[in-house]
Formats: sequence, C-alpha cells, structure tokens
Amino acid sequence: MDNATRALSPTGDPFLLTPGPLTTSLTVKQAMLHDLGSRDTGFIALNARVRERLVEIIHGGGDFTCVPLQGSGTFSVEAMIGTFVPPDGRLLVLVNGAYGHRIVRMCGYARRDVVVEETPENVPCDPAALDRRLAADPAITHVVVVHCETTSGVLNPIAALGAVVAKHGRRLLIDSMSAFGALEVDARAIRFDAVVASSNKCLEGAPGMGFCLARTSALAACSGNSPSLSLDLYDQWVTMEKTAQWRFTPPVHCMLALDQAIEEFLAEGGVAGRGGRYRANCAILVEGLRALGFETLLADDIQAPIIVTVKMPADPRFDFPAFYDRLSAAGYVIYPGKLTVAASFRIGCIGRLGTAEMKGALGAIRAALSDMGGIDCRPG
Ligand SMILES: *Cc1c(COP(=O)(O)O)cnc(C)c1O
Repeated sequence: MDNATRALSPTGDPFLLTPGPLTTSLTVKQAMLHDLGSRDTGFIALNARVRERLVEIIHGGGDFTCVPLQGSGTFSVEAMIGTFVPPDGRLLVLVNGAYGHRIVRMCGYARRDVVVEETPENVPCDPAALDRRLAADPAITHVVVVHCETTSGVLNPIAALGAVVAKHGRRLLIDSMSAFGALEVDARAIRFDAVVASSNKCLEGAPGMGFCLARTSALAACSGNSPSLSLDLYDQWVTMEKTAQWRFTPPVHCMLALDQAIEEFLAEGGVAGRGGRYRANCAILVEGLRALGFETLLADDIQAPIIVTVKMPADPRFDFPAFYDRLSAAGYVIYPGKLTVAASFRIGCIGRLGTAEMKGALGAIRAALSDMGGIDCRPG
C-alpha cells in the first residue's frame, strides 16, 4: 500500500493500538536527542523532578517515595515482589489473566511462599472471595492485584479489594502497569505499600524503565529481602537518596522522554484528562466494532478504557493473520489475543492516539473485512 492510503504518525510510523510499546508524541521522541552523563547536574535535577511528580500522581504526600528501575515493566513487578515480600512471608496473588500468572512464576524464582485466588479472565477479582480467603489463612502477609489485567482489559476493583486487605491488617501491592496515569490510584483512599508502573504505557514515555511508588515506612523495613541485586528496590532507593544518582547506568534517554511525557500528561489535565481521552477512544472503538457485528469479550461496566478484547469471528473466511497484515499495511498495528477462555484479538486505546486515529482504525477494519469478502463478524 502506498503512503497516500496509509495513515502515518509525524515520524512516518504506524499507529500502535497495542498494550505496548505505544505511540509517543513527536515532542517526547525529540526530548531524547541528547547525551547526558549520569552525574550531569541537569540530569540529577530531572531525576528528582520525575520522582516527585510521580509521587504526586498518587497523592502520596510525604508518605511515599519513587524508586525508578531499569528494564521493562516486568522487572519492576519482580523487584516489588522480591523486595516487599520477605523470605518468611506468604503472598496471595489475585489472578484473572496472564500478568497475575506471571507474578506466581516470579515467586518460584524468588522462592517466596505463594497462594492463588483465581477468577476467570472475563471476571474481576472478587472482594468477598478475598475476604473469606484472608479470614481462613492468617499466614498470608501480602496480597497483590493487577489493576487492569491487560490480558483481557478487565478492570479490577482495587479500592474494594484494598479495603478488605486493610480490614485484615495485611499489606497490599498493586501492578498498575497498564492503568497508571489513566485511572486513579489514590493513596489517600486506598491503603497499599507499593504500586508499580512503567514509563511507556499510559504515561506515554519511551519504553525501557519502570518505577515503584513505595510507602517509605514499609520500604525502610525491606533491607535484605531481595533475592536479586539488580532488582533490589531497597538498595536502589538507599543509593539514590544518598547520592542522587542511579545504581548502574541510568536509562538517560528514557528519563528525558519521561520528563517530557509527564509535562504533557499534566498539560492534558493529569489522570482526569488522560483517562478522559482514553475513555473516548474506547467508546468510539467499542461502538464502531459492535456496529460492524463484532462482539467484545467484556460488558461495558468491567471494561477498562485501556485495551479491548474482541471475539474472533466464526466466519471461516476470516483469517486473522491476513486481517492483521491488512491493518498494518494501512498504518494500524493491533495485537493478537492471549485468552484461554475464547479465541480473540485485542485493540488498544492508549498511547498518543485520539478520535482521528480510532476512526481511522475502524475505517481500515471496515475496508479489510470487505476486501476479505464481506465477513460476518459474529463469534461462534
Ligand atoms: C505491560 C504490563 C506489564 C509489564 O510488561 P513488560 O512487557 O515487561 O513491560 C506488567 N503488568 C501489566 C498488567 C501490564 O499490562
């Protein structure tokens, strides 16, 4: 397909309607056109500013600190588990998708005692089941929940789950990777010890680092817990507080991009503005897909405005790889499904995308369906 019929970002790249890496603004990409040393005073000031602003996003006041970490988001999740759950603790993982299962695997590597409370991928974690579980098992010290399970796009009720954890006097950890910046994680309203997210999802920075927003009093008690040097958030924090620098080579370009991305996030109106744009994206997408005859996996009241899971059409003429290739050639990259409950694919609403890109993607979908012979989009 030539460029006349192909949608392109200002840098000539396709739009990424995926769970990450995501489309970033031109100005975020331009912010990376520098080389800085780790001891550069400008970089040290930028590092401090980014850390402070990330704490402000959760209204963490004087009680929370930000510990940034090199690596993709998974590195920060694994760092949080290994740092906060002590070797003699027991972690309850609330599982309703692949990211919950991944945390269970991490516990194997870190040799942490782990138990699971599981709901199907299309069902949010259940506060009543959590309540019964904690009442029955006093050895559980920590509970971890995935805020938006990106496997399906389901929204888990972190406030209600947090209230149950607090009632039982246990400690809550949150993986808000795909929701942070678009959905509220309010430390004044939810009691938790740590939340992790990354530079590239709803904050729209460059991929390559994550961060943990940690209750300082809880983190201060975590010395010696981590089974890994590079993933020890306690050590990363102590070093950064003492020297204002990172342990090991800092991802300077990621930090430059994240600083600019946070500036743009604040200019858009913070969580309310960013979340509002994504909710509008999600509504356009869901409505447009249903109008074409597709069915979404989730009911609207449990759908987070992050990524939409679409059931695979039963029509034998529908060939997903060919569909994917046609959309990609038109400038829109979607994502395969990762569900066990149903054959599906996913379309993301996050990143530097708005009404024009969502409508453009729907137009490309409509054209692909008609090129494939007029597909009946109903699932089997
Ligand atoms: C994206 C994501 C992660 C981290 O994934 P990486 O590929 O390591 O960045 C973790 N948890 C959730 C819920 C996510 O959406």
